[in-house]
Amino acid sequence: MSYDDQNIFAKILRGEIPNDTVYEDDHVLAFRDIQPQAPTHVLVIPKGPYVSFDDFAENASDAELAAYVRAIGKVARAEGVAPVAGGNGFRMIANAGEDGVQEVPHLHVHILGGRRIGRMVQRAET
Ligand code: AMP
Repeated sequence: MSYDDQNIFAKILRGEIPNDTVYEDDHVLAFRDIQPQAPTHVLVIPKGPYVSFDDFAENASDAELAAYVRAIGKVARAEGVAPVAGGNGFRMIANAGEDGVQEVPHLHVHILGGRRIGRMVQRAET
C-alpha cells in the first residue's frame, strides 16, 4: 500500500486542518483524538509519510524510530498516565490495515488512559 498524501493526518501535518497539539519535535506530532474514547486519548504520529507500523519499522531512519518511541513516553508522562512517573497506566494501540481496522492510513499510536480501558481485544466487531 502506497502512502496517500490526502489522508487527514497528512493534512494536519501540512497545517491544512487544525489540531490540539500536546507534543511536537522534528520527527513527531502528538495531538488529542477528535473523538476521545477515554479521559486521555492522544494520537502520536511520525512526520514522515508512513502508512503503518510495519512500514515505519522497515523504512524509517534510526533517528525517526528513536524520536517516535521517546515521544510516546514523553506524552504518557505529560498526560500523567505513565506508571514509572506515578500514573495509573495506559494502553497503546496501533491499528494496521483492514483486519486491524485502521481508518486513517498514516501511522498513529493511540495513547488511552485516565480510566480502566478494559479487555485488550473484543471477540466480535462492534
Ligand atoms: P484508527 O481507526 O486507528 O485509524 O483511528 C483513527 C483515529 O483518528 C480515530 O480515533 C479518530 O477519532 C481520529 N481522528 C480522525 N480525524 C481526526 C482529526 N481531525 N483530529 C484528531 N483525531 C482525528
